[in-house]
Amino acid sequence: MTKNDLLVIFVAVANLLSVMVWWSAGSRMGLSRKAAGHWLLVPVAHGLALSLPLMETHLSGIWYRGAADALVVWGFIAMRRGLQWFLRRTRTDIEHQLLGFGLTAFCLGICMPMRWLDASVAASSAAVVWTALRTAMESHRSIRQEFGQAATWVVTAPMLAAAVMFLVRGLYPYLPGSPLHRALDANPDWRVWLVLYFLVLAIALNFVLGYIVVMRLVRKLQHLSQHDGLTGLLNRRAIEYLLDREAQRLQRFGQPFAVMLVDIDHFKRINDRLGHPAGDAVLASVARTLESQAREVDRVARFGGEEFCVLLPFTLHEGAQQAGERLREAVRRTPVPWSDETISVTVSVGVAPASDPTEPLLTLLNRADQALYRAKADGRDRVVMADPAPERDPLPSREL
Ligand code: GH3
Ligand code: MG
Ligand code: MG
Repeated sequence: MTKNDLLVIFVAVANLLSVMVWWSAGSRMGLSRKAAGHWLLVPVAHGLALSLPLMETHLSGIWYRGAADALVVWGFIAMRRGLQWFLRRTRTDIEHQLLGFGLTAFCLGICMPMRWLDASVAASSAAVVWTALRTAMESHRSIRQEFGQAATWVVTAPMLAAAVMFLVRGLYPYLPGSPLHRALDANPDWRVWLVLYFLVLAIALNFVLGYIVVMRLVRKLQHLSQHDGLTGLLNRRAIEYLLDREAQRLQRFGQPFAVMLVDIDHFKRINDRLGHPAGDAVLASVARTLESQAREVDRVARFGGEEFCVLLPFTLHEGAQQAGERLREAVRRTPVPWSDETISVTVSVGVAPASDPTEPLLTLLNRADQALYRAKADGRDRVVMADPAPERDPLPSREL
């Protein structure tokens, strides 16, 4: 078995693995089928483009050189189109068709019969440089918006590396006597190294695509683990984490905050009279009202069934009471349309300002809960401020 045959097997195995990964990502892991389908074609095209020239002893004519040049470009087009699907960007199909079919016709229809091998390589390289740069440019902003600046570099750097590499590849035949020529002439194995270099680049591009897919998946899971499905608000776990951080800020910097528990009045009656879907609609509507009426810095969460929790950072007694009244009033003013009637909704609110750094979070929440309980007992549709935090025994002072 020759060195070239071994390389072909290596290229085939590496690209087959990529194909399998994209196939399972599209069919089993919830990646957009369109994106996965396109990215599955990338290793197919690039694997063939690398293998065909390596199998020259088994092939007759020179058609395979033109086919390899066209396949490289189709691979990059598939990658770009997959990325356009993945990032939900407009597809540039006319450009792709002109580039892909135009280049295939030029390489296979003109260059090969005329034996213009260098022109075929140069045209295919120019098309790759163009596609790689366009991909980097157009995906740049979407990736930064969705995944942040660091991810932008992870994605654009290999695209730029591909552009530089193909620029050199395209210009190489036209720069005789250059240091590159001398270096390659001195090394008879350079084609092997070139194939390995291409392979590393192809693997890097696959890695980049895998990276953004995983990033999106992680963000999705993060969102699911922190948000409530029905209302879209933060869930209890997420708000408890934020409350804990706010309590730490109070301990370290003395920054006060307030907690508000909001409970829908007689919610069970709505469920009983109009059914569960009506109750769900009321929950979603109250959630929207609370979120729109809260300040930008406040965090609203669904705490349980029909109970919400609002965290008000940097808020003292007066401010917290006013905020409670504002939210209560807003819910009362927003009846929920359901079938041919509108459901009036009111809420009771218990507010506990936190200004004692030694008060445990659980005690603070208990105070808010007791205030809410009193609001219910006093007739509902009202805001009740919690009793001040109970006096705690001061820490025993160390004797000198
Ligand atoms: P109160 O004014 O004292 O708060 O009375 P209430 O009826 O609002 O309170 P209660 O605790 O008796 O009933 C709450 C109901 O909320 C019971 C439960 O079936 C309902 N519930 C909890 N989660 C959901 C939900 O996700 N959707 C719907 N539709 N109902 C829910
Ligand atoms: Mg209730
Ligand atoms: Mg309740």
